[in-house]
Amino acid sequence: NLFDHDECDYLFKTILVGDSAVGKSNLLSRFSKDEFHLDSKPTIGVEFAYRNMKIGDKIVKAQVWDTAGQERFRAITSSYYRGALGAMLVYDITRRGTFENLRKWLHELREYGSRDMVIILVGNKSDLIDSREVDTEDGQSLAQLEDLCFMETSAKENLNVEDAFLQMITKIFEIAS
Ligand code: GDP
Ligand code: MG
Repeated sequence: NLFDHDECDYLFKTILVGDSAVGKSNLLSRFSKDEFHLDSKPTIGVEFAYRNMKIGDKIVKAQVWDTAGQERFRAITSSYYRGALGAMLVYDITRRGTFENLRKWLHELREYGSRDMVIILVGNKSDLIDSREVDTEDGQSLAQLEDLCFMETSAKENLNVEDAFLQMITKIFEIAS
């Protein structure tokens, strides 16, 4: 049974980071439950969610941690980063400020995260074409400069969400196996 807790070959802790309201919780609910919510309710955010994926002939359980709104107060503790093998660093393509803050987030990831942590840069809300403030090329350049994977997603329209998580998990798998 693919969903049995005990029957997985690997368990990978991964984390979501990035400014408030960029869509972290919705990326997670889309990935784990195929759900999207128009309203943002950070206070009732879950701590983490699981999803099993099959990579080759192995079953990998992805445990994805969400900030539960703490990013508003810069209150993310080092235990959040501890043991994380992958991080999804999210910004909102319709708010330039969330892209500018990536520098701060990368600094935190490198300070608290493990050296070989897989980081995927995600520009979310790609469905909002008319309000775009960050070009795709800007995301690509930063990813190249910092040696990160990169993808634009829409949690709302379910674009690239699965692919982004799969890319992160596959990279971790390659390193861990
Ligand atoms: P978080 O604070 O980073 O966890 O962000 P949330 O997941 O709570 O999302 C913040 C707001 O952005 C909510 O109103 C969501 O409905 C909205 N949102 C999240 N992802 C998308 C997306 O891909 N497209 C659009 N149009 N809105 C989104
Ligand atoms: Mg949230």
